[in-house]
Amino acid sequence: MPHSYSTERSAKLRDEILGASRILCIQPHHDDNDIAAGGTFALLADHGVEVHYLTVTDNLAGVTDPDLSDADAAAILSGEQQRAGTEIGVHAQYDLGLPDAGAWDEVELRRSFIEHIRRVQPDYVFTCDPWLPHEAHRDHLRTGILAGEAVMFHAMPRFKTRPEVDDAWTPHEVRGLVLYYTLDENLVIDIAATRERKHRAMSCYPSLIAGPALDDLHRGIGFVEGQRGEPEGFAHAEAFKLLRPRQLHCAIARRS
Ligand SMILES: [Zn+2]
Repeated sequence: MPHSYSTERSAKLRDEILGASRILCIQPHHDDNDIAAGGTFALLADHGVEVHYLTVTDNLAGVTDPDLSDADAAAILSGEQQRAGTEIGVHAQYDLGLPDAGAWDEVELRRSFIEHIRRVQPDYVFTCDPWLPHEAHRDHLRTGILAGEAVMFHAMPRFKTRPEVDDAWTPHEVRGLVLYYTLDENLVIDIAATRERKHRAMSCYPSLIAGPALDDLHRGIGFVEGQRGEPEGFAHAEAFKLLRPRQLHCAIARRS
């Protein structure tokens, strides 16, 4: 399988993120972090990294039972997410509850991302790649772009969030935006040690996916893990694009 990244650079980036203190993982839906990167997040948690999950939507469009009330479905989803987080070793979870596949105030959502970056002080922000060529789900596109803007803007004091957050805030450096669900990887992580926990976490959402569809998901993700691992001889891997904040705006320098 051809690949265009440097395996040496990938190994360096891997060591860099394993040395992080905290990461903030911003996902559109309850299960995206686990499906795309659960093996890596479990590995980071095992290395003592504080893993914080921030979920943008209420995910109600994905609930398969049409007879559940919204309130009941939200309560069930919240319990499922807690169980998945325990499998992975997630330190804290935050939910914004925006309507799944609905209308959002994007400036307000970016403000909320900046607020969480200022509170959590992550070394890296993970999210879905909004530049995946054929991505059609706008929840993923909007989440990825606004997370990128938040990484660019969080240290600028004229961007206000809430007084109690801004007054207590000391600017810090986010070292990278790390994109999952990507085809443009520069960081590939062997998940041999944590893959079982990842797949157990993926099975924690029966309200969203169960039975043969869940079996298909495990198979499909297993196939991708094998593809991503192949260039380096890993049986199963997860792939990411790590971008420095300076690369997120008008970045036209060619790599020398
Ligand atoms: Zn999603």
